[in-house]
Amino acid sequence: MTIAIAIVGYGKIAEDQHVPAILGNPAFRLAACVSRRRAGPPGVPAFASIADLRASGLKIDAVALCNTPVERPAAVFEALDAGWHVLMEKPPAATLSAVWQIVAAAEAAGRTLFAGWHCRFAPAVPAAKAMLAGRRIDSLLIDWREDVRKWHPGQQWIWEPGGFGVFDPGINGLSVLSEILPVDIAVAAARLETPANRQTPIAARLAFGGPGIPADAHGLFDWREPDDRWNIRIEFEGHDLLLTHGGSRLMVDGVEQPVPDEGEYPPLYRRFAVLVTQGGSEVDLRPLQLVADAFLLGERVTVAPFD
Ligand code: NAP
Repeated sequence: MTIAIAIVGYGKIAEDQHVPAILGNPAFRLAACVSRRRAGPPGVPAFASIADLRASGLKIDAVALCNTPVERPAAVFEALDAGWHVLMEKPPAATLSAVWQIVAAAEAAGRTLFAGWHCRFAPAVPAAKAMLAGRRIDSLLIDWREDVRKWHPGQQWIWEPGGFGVFDPGINGLSVLSEILPVDIAVAAARLETPANRQTPIAARLAFGGPGIPADAHGLFDWREPDDRWNIRIEFEGHDLLLTHGGSRLMVDGVEQPVPDEGEYPPLYRRFAVLVTQGGSEVDLRPLQLVADAFLLGERVTVAPFD
């Protein structure tokens, strides 16, 4: 069975990643786009709202929600009401309480709900996870920096409440970290740097703690870095593991490890197809919980305005 899928929210990630991944996967057929601007790839029917798509009578089996986190819960409820399976871009929503409502609604509707943490599908992540399984962690640093102007050109929602600020990319690193570590991490302390003219942080430092987490385990997140740096370094039992390029490359003791040559979104869509076909759901909230805890615990520091 081919899954007729509609993209909801046609912004940067929908165009750059979701469209090619859907078109490249024979399990799917890109049946429609929903965008207030009625934007979408050429030849694909575009609707201004989910209600308009439903009213069109087009056959839809699933939706990929690529809109902003604040908008996502309402879109999930509408999609489930229409009987569609749901793939949510990260983060699944702007609040944990909304995600619990979403999970309950999907269970009640008997539809697949997939919170797609795309960085977990980066090619080197499974190898890093296998290498760390059952090991003692001796040191841990997550260093996640990028240039906000390059990756979020003109986007305003990331600076508004619920937009996450530097944790919009930072949650990707936390999704990888929480996937590969053999123990759970918790936020022990946080420092959030917020521009004087913005609502969300441009940089953050998190200290991690908990059983099996070494002293001085920490994370640095910064949106003012001209060169992308999406790295996780973990020392374990005398070895040095370095995951770079957002989980695409893996060095162990200085030796590059062979990994598949593939992007993140093709395997993410393969996983969604399996979940839809087998009737399962997958929603891991640990990355969102870590970000929420950073906001709950974080010391606030005001820094220079960002324009
Ligand atoms: P975006 O480009 O700002 O798109 C988000 C929404 O903004 C779209 O649904 C679109 O709504 C609206 N929009 C976009 N461009 C617009 C324009 N020129 N005028 C008016 N409205 C516009 O955001 P995004 O980067 O794709 O992020 C969406 C989700 O994907 C977020 O949860 C983000 O965390 C995640 N994500 C982003 C990246 C990245 O590198 N940017 C990577 C991975 C995941 P309509 O279509 O309804 O008009």
